[in-house]
Amino acid sequence: MSLLSVEQARERILSKLDPVDTETIPLTACVNRVLGVDIVAADDLPLFDNSSMDGFAIQAADTSNAAPVSRVTLRVVADIPAGSTPRISIAPGQAARIMTGAQMPEGADSVIPVEDTDFNNRSPGTPAPKTVSIEKIVKHGDNVRQRGMDVHAGDAVLKKGNILKPQDVGLLAMLGFPEVEVYKRPLIALLSSGDELLEAGAPLESGKIRDSNSYMLASLVESTGAEVLRLGIAKDTRESVQGLIEQAVLLNADMILSSAGVSVGAFDYVKDVVEANGSLNFWRVNMRPGKPVAFGEYKSIPFIGLPGNPVSAFVGFEVFVRDSIGRLRGISDGSRSKVRVRSEEEILSDGRESYLRAIIREEDGQFVATLTGHQGSGNLLSLVQANALLIIPAGVKCVPAGQEIDAWLL
Ligand code: AMP
Ligand code: MG
Repeated sequence: MSLLSVEQARERILSKLDPVDTETIPLTACVNRVLGVDIVAADDLPLFDNSSMDGFAIQAADTSNAAPVSRVTLRVVADIPAGSTPRISIAPGQAARIMTGAQMPEGADSVIPVEDTDFNNRSPGTPAPKTVSIEKIVKHGDNVRQRGMDVHAGDAVLKKGNILKPQDVGLLAMLGFPEVEVYKRPLIALLSSGDELLEAGAPLESGKIRDSNSYMLASLVESTGAEVLRLGIAKDTRESVQGLIEQAVLLNADMILSSAGVSVGAFDYVKDVVEANGSLNFWRVNMRPGKPVAFGEYKSIPFIGLPGNPVSAFVGFEVFVRDSIGRLRGISDGSRSKVRVRSEEEILSDGRESYLRAIIREEDGQFVATLTGHQGSGNLLSLVQANALLIIPAGVKCVPAGQEIDAWLL
């Protein structure tokens, strides 16, 4: 039986996942959350015609003959600070002093900046002059920000499924949304498995190692914007594995993520426990590292079992879990962008789709990649030192030096 390709496995997982429910939360808490509705503007932006400069609101036509030798002098009939409502209409021959962001008065169609007048004075508290002289032609609309030039009421400005960026939050505030409907943060239950594992702070014992995966995977889950439910370390027994996973059911997790215990070892019970309490959709993918990855359902909660070796667990997370959590979070377009890099050295592969740790640097406008240290899947430092994963496609056994390949930046 031939193994599933990475793409087939990803498809199988994604096709089984639906976004979680939405909730309405304050605007102050929504950055990085995923929009649960399309946002339609109820107002024009800018809300009203306003000045983009400190200056004088005038009728441009008054300046049609203005020049250094024939200055035009206008009577200043109003003073309009930001935030006020202009009460006077500007007639020919008149001007109103106006501040940046202040509403344009009726009658005026343009603004001449103070620095282009004989009244170049912006010290706080300076009263408006009685008259202002201009020696420059001003065009209709100069230095006026027209109502609706950015957004028209009725425009769809943000789409359901967008991750809210800080600038989106600013726009929502501009449009008067004190709260916003977003997808809930999915709860990802995380367990490690293995009799050899100790908590990071525990004293070392012979034959034991520290559980690094749960810390690394929890950090990865958090980096996606989901919430982590730490279930701890399961012993290599059916009872222990099932006992921990049941906690995820009890606490309504949206996904169960485990590491280790899904290979062919005599004590690898994770897969069995899932099968006995749900179903296994697939096990093992044609990739390296990370071949023994499992996907299924435990009592209808999606389950992804990552390999135990830390680098394999990391790669498995990036290849399968990140976008899966994205789907749960409601992200509409989750696909991660690749960059093209030139390999500095010849890379041999075994024909599986391979994810290799590398350092990428820019050289003559091109990315050049060098593999890091020992590529064995237990060597975490080689991942720590890397800033990219090179992706060697399935079927390729040799990438000659100088050839371009895809990479993910880390
Ligand atoms: P397994 O899939 O259980 O055969 O584990 C494969 C390898 O990963 C073994 O060398 C384990 O000791 C190691 N391993 C398993 N779980 C973890 C973990 N949580 N942290 C670090 N290494 C682990
Ligand atoms: Mg094990």
